[in-house]
Amino acid sequence: MSSYKIAILPGDGIGPEVIREAVKVLHDLESTDTLSFEFEEAPVGGYAYDKTGNPLPSATLTLAKKADAVLLGAVGGPKWEPLDYSVRPERALLGLRAELGLFANLRPATLFPPLVDASTLKRGVIEGIDIMVVRELTGDVYFGKPRGVSKNEKGEEIGINTLVYSTSEIERVAHVAFKIARERKRQVTSVDKANVLEATELWRKVVSRVQSEQYPDVALSHMYVDNCAMQLVRNPRQFDVLLTPNLFGDILSDEAAMLTGSIGMLPSASLGEGSCGLYEPIHGSAPDIAGKGIANPLATILSSALMLRYSLNQPQAAHRIETAVGHVLKKGYRTSDIYTEGMKKVSTKEMGDLVREEMGELTV
Ligand code: NAD
Repeated sequence: MSSYKIAILPGDGIGPEVIREAVKVLHDLESTDTLSFEFEEAPVGGYAYDKTGNPLPSATLTLAKKADAVLLGAVGGPKWEPLDYSVRPERALLGLRAELGLFANLRPATLFPPLVDASTLKRGVIEGIDIMVVRELTGDVYFGKPRGVSKNEKGEEIGINTLVYSTSEIERVAHVAFKIARERKRQVTSVDKANVLEATELWRKVVSRVQSEQYPDVALSHMYVDNCAMQLVRNPRQFDVLLTPNLFGDILSDEAAMLTGSIGMLPSASLGEGSCGLYEPIHGSAPDIAGKGIANPLATILSSALMLRYSLNQPQAAHRIETAVGHVLKKGYRTSDIYTEGMKKVSTKEMGDLVREEMGELTV
């Protein structure tokens, strides 16, 4: 029996509603798989600020550091927008990433066949896509120095950000991408702008060296970011793992995600050196629908599947959740964000229960 300690951080808005369903799904795994979980919940984001004056209280951080993995709902909302940046709910995410040393962000863009018509692209282009974007998370123009707005010698205002990457920063995220590719189709496309940006010329060189020295069984190709943006909508099926620097990945991961249609379906993982990771849906706290019981819990349920695969080394349990989600969609059940004429509209709780029921039907 494998036992895991999971930090549960529901957060704000629809966060607690979708987290509740994911936790129930994980609980159900305990009865049929050789798994057990110890869930401990802690406040984060605006809810934590209201309680303690800090969006990431030290007790929450301590819990996250002790856990085998962290499952987070969402943070933020209009109530906290007037606050100073230093205590805004979103600061909690940056704090968690920094304190847990999370440098690789994983976003799968997988199309569940029953949702093929939710995409804005033609069926023939997107059918069968299964892409994993591995984005570097702690470097690039977001963190490089010098930065800021100052004046030049003519007294004119200038804005500066610096694209900087060290060899070790590139190496560690490249290892993540190649290891993940080994579990998939063994193809990595590394994205850069090596024709004009020296920092990404280094990126290309280091990624190539890591591949040739340690992952000769994984095919590596390089692509300029502008071409990649185009190829993602022209022929997305060509991609398996997309490895990107932080800024390019910020944009390309949203583009790849939207190939699949709905924000309520998309999970993410952030990984560091050890096995601990932070798992969360890519959507925010959706204040417009919070409390109505209509949010789609599937992105969070699928985030818990990523957690089982990448932090807890339980790929079969992960597969079971993903398969159950596919079956529920195939049977025509939809939350309102993915609803189309002729389907059966269900609430957040009903969707969670349907996934659990379907898991019960699957042979272990
Ligand atoms: P959002 O993702 O919360 O919502 C965008 C739209 O998608 C809304 O119409 C919402 O109703 C819908 N939506 C999102 N998730 C859904 C779900 N699971 N089911 C059904 N519909 C869903 O983005 P936003 O409105 O720009 O941001 C709202 C708040 O969330 C802001 O305070 C923002 O800072 C915060 N935010 C947090 C995170 C995070 O916690 N990681 C990410 C993005 C935004």
